[in-house]
Amino acid sequence: MSEAGARIYGLSKSRVTAFEQCPRRLWLAVHRPDAAVHDSGAEARFATGHEVGEIACRLLPEGVMIEADPDLGAALDATTAHLESGARTPLFEATFQHDGVLVRVDVLEPSGGAAWRMVEVKSSIRVKDYHLGDLATQVWVARETGLQIAEAAVRHIDADFVLQREGDFSGLFADTDCLDVIEPIVAGRSAVVREARDVLAGEEPERETGDHCSSPFPCEFRAWCDRNAPPGPEWPVTVLPRGGGKRWLAEGLADLGDVPLDRLSNAMEQRVWRATMSGETWHDVQGARRAMAGWTWPRAWLDFETIGPAAPRWVGTRPYQQVPFQFSLHVEEEGGAVEHHEFLSLDGLDPRRACAEALVALTPTTGAVIAYNASFERSRITELAATFHDLAASLEAIADRIVDLLPVTRANWYHRDQRGSWSIKAVLPTIAPELDYAALAVKDGGQAQEAYLEATSGRATPERGQALRHGLLKYCRRDTEAMVVLARRLARLN
Ligand code: SF4
Repeated sequence: MSEAGARIYGLSKSRVTAFEQCPRRLWLAVHRPDAAVHDSGAEARFATGHEVGEIACRLLPEGVMIEADPDLGAALDATTAHLESGARTPLFEATFQHDGVLVRVDVLEPSGGAAWRMVEVKSSIRVKDYHLGDLATQVWVARETGLQIAEAAVRHIDADFVLQREGDFSGLFADTDCLDVIEPIVAGRSAVVREARDVLAGEEPERETGDHCSSPFPCEFRAWCDRNAPPGPEWPVTVLPRGGGKRWLAEGLADLGDVPLDRLSNAMEQRVWRATMSGETWHDVQGARRAMAGWTWPRAWLDFETIGPAAPRWVGTRPYQQVPFQFSLHVEEEGGAVEHHEFLSLDGLDPRRACAEALVALTPTTGAVIAYNASFERSRITELAATFHDLAASLEAIADRIVDLLPVTRANWYHRDQRGSWSIKAVLPTIAPELDYAALAVKDGGQAQEAYLEATSGRATPERGQALRHGLLKYCRRDTEAMVVLARRLARLN
């Protein structure tokens, strides 16, 4: 819901949630909103929530929207008027206020008798803990205004939904009834709100940063809270891969150099420790050569870019299904010659058939197909094979030949500047710095998805459309080019 109407020290469900994550976060949101730094994914998450909310409304054509026009006071009045009229139609954004807490309810549906069913719409595929808090705040406020709430549910995406007809989202949602679970939270809401208001009336609360700063949401005040923190160690224990640093933090050790080598539990951690402390890169050339020796020629280096909307766009796709709209393919002959192929669909139509055809046409029928973190590429090809039966044999033959460069890199290369990561963007600057992503217009998968959405929105000018196309092509090409160079340098072939 909009925060526009929450007066100073007034609260909303999201502010109560912020308080429960961290009192300091709520205080800063109200008193120092200028200190917030929003992460790059916030806008995309908001857009997804908005789209899913609109679909939930469209699925109830008899529903009435409570407009906040000209302000939330008007929404409060319109809600009261509608409820007093006795009309038993669903309401969207019904607005209630109690004890300075103002909530707008996604959907209010008639239940038995005079009672109502409160529905919180979410774009996730399951109920999360903080959804329960959101719902409880709303149930508490609505009940305190005299509304009878007999049911309360989170309406989330049904992961099994498959779009059968374009734009027909009946069945997209599943309701999980939560009233019994949230009753204890509802009972405690009054006290929580009082505590939140006390915090707001005081000075900025003291609160150390910690795990709570990223759950349930990445906190937008992290930079503010860290501004006076002493600089941490140059090589903290958190560079140990796969969360290996947590154990040492729990023992009070933050600096990797303070951790005795012989207490590290596996060879990978010991390798990271040695490379970090000595500054010498771990590079097992023979190991890399052995690992890749069985990769037959010609080698086809493959990378997909995908889009996975919460509400499926194309018939036959599921929520969040990763649909490939682009791939880059470098084909490398044993003698060293390399040829580049690519596919990109920006017409907004279902890209899968054209992608599958291009993949079959452009991928050699023999030789290894190489990806980085290959389970992703293999899954996309297997999905295409399951969809297009006439291409299934060719696609499965490609999937069967896929091998993975990531474990080869992980086993045979570590430079301390990777700081515990073997993502290709962490490895590349340490082994092929000339292939930097920083100069590219599209720098990562998230930006590629944003570019795809903008290019297919119908709102981009022809010039902008061309720029987006160009940026996407360069980015995906860089991914496969990087793999070719990385493999050669791992095996010290150039
Ligand atoms: S960064 Fe952490 S400590 Fe600071 S306000 Fe946010 S959640 Fe609280």
